[in-house]
Amino acid sequence: MAEADIALIGLAVMGQNLIMNMNDHGFVVCAYNRTVSKVHDFLKNEAKGSKVIGAESLEDMVSKLKKPRRIILLVKAGQAVDDFIDNLVPLLDAGDIIIDGGNSEYRDTTRRCKSLKEKGLLFVGSGVSGGEEGARYGPSLMPGGHKEAWPHIKDIFQSIAAKVGTGEPCCDWVGDEGAGHFVKMVHNGIEYGDMQLICEAYHLMKDVLGMDHDEMAKAFDNWNKTELDSFLIEITANILKYRDSDGTHLLPKIRDSAGQKGTGKWTAISALEYGTPVTLIGEAVFARCLSSLKDERVEASRSLSGPQGVKFSGNKAAFLEDIRKALYASKIISYAQGFMLLRQAAKEFGWTLNYGAIALMWRGGCIIRSVFLGKIKEAFDRDSELQNLLLDSFFSDAVQDCQASWRRAVSTGVQHGIPMPCFTTALSFYDGYRHEKLPANLLQAQRDYFGAHTYELLSNPGHFIHTNWTGHG
Ligand code: NAP
Repeated sequence: MAEADIALIGLAVMGQNLIMNMNDHGFVVCAYNRTVSKVHDFLKNEAKGSKVIGAESLEDMVSKLKKPRRIILLVKAGQAVDDFIDNLVPLLDAGDIIIDGGNSEYRDTTRRCKSLKEKGLLFVGSGVSGGEEGARYGPSLMPGGHKEAWPHIKDIFQSIAAKVGTGEPCCDWVGDEGAGHFVKMVHNGIEYGDMQLICEAYHLMKDVLGMDHDEMAKAFDNWNKTELDSFLIEITANILKYRDSDGTHLLPKIRDSAGQKGTGKWTAISALEYGTPVTLIGEAVFARCLSSLKDERVEASRSLSGPQGVKFSGNKAAFLEDIRKALYASKIISYAQGFMLLRQAAKEFGWTLNYGAIALMWRGGCIIRSVFLGKIKEAFDRDSELQNLLLDSFFSDAVQDCQASWRRAVSTGVQHGIPMPCFTTALSFYDGYRHEKLPANLLQAQRDYFGAHTYELLSNPGHFIHTNWTGHG
């Protein structure tokens, strides 16, 4: 009997939580998993007393679904998604909807959209952010793919998504093909950037100002009441406060070597592919790579020295405010770069992206949630065609207000030998972006000198010429 509103395949942590979230919002969910014993366990434990039903096989699951059938996959990204799609296709009818909520690569989503369209099925690739907590109580959802599917899933998606302001859901239709997964990928890249920026602020506080953990926790708590109000600043304060069972702080005992799962790297690769200077996310990925060379760094620390005898002698409170403003300005640059990449991808793939809606989708429910994203939404509300966030008056004024502090934080950090790849690249990007003239005239001359690549004169645009640089007269 067709009784379920939607099915979800994949009963790991994300899937179980998303099912319980849908159940709480009144939807009847049919649960299925490759290892079927997990369905039984789930129904006996987490889903006990709920309206959730289980399926013993894909055929059983399909028979229990109302039409058009809606099926969410929340399984390991990659081959598992293709395998499930291949097994589902013969069981479904035209107009049924398969939704991939995993962290799939956007090109895979585009490929799956094309192949399922030929079979008369609708496919949606949706970014799901917020981890297990988000999945359970309100994630940020970024669906894209076949738009004909949206009216059939909108109610479920917007009901279970995080809400902000006056109840606006952090979920809207993103765009065609792999647009939802592309936006999720950029979200993850921005998350890498935000985390690294906070780490650089922590490094400056610790090694330039010599602040202890409780002082730093207090600073982050205070910052969370400013423009920087966000989940990541909040958890940083909590991490700094946290004491181990022996009463000492846990943080300094953690090995300083960061891992990664790849979505930051994908963002940086896309930036290179589409020629967009998303320098901050790139540096954040490289910072993790450098951190992972722990043994080599330990070795190098024995022979390579930094600046000698430099001690901070300025006003501590004033420099702490400089660091805060450097973090805020760098964060503005990072988001400006992230939205530049979205614009470029939209151009490459012919997607129509609603940038204000994307900012709202990230405003709550996900790891980068912040008050700041509300300001980005407002900027796109003022001008939906905004070329660059830095050209919006709110953000240009904010950067202007931070600029002197930002430069002091960076130059002081450099003098103290503190690595700040994201603070510095953000400032360099800002200085590059605001320069009418860059030294690329010399670069063009060099290219023409050794490779006859030609160059364009300012006085004669569109006309390319070559000079014999070694000739005379
Ligand atoms: P996961 O560990 O990524 O995947 C486990 C699930 O995938 C299980 O249901 C497993 O089935 C199934 N699976 C794995 N290999 C399979 C294969 N070859 N064929 C069929 N099924 C296979 O689970 P997760 O952490 O809950 O994440 C689910 C998806 O959401 C992933 O794409 C992940 O990247 C994404 N995501 C995760 C988070 C997070 O915070 N964890 C946040 C956002 C998005 P069995 O039980 O039979 O092994």
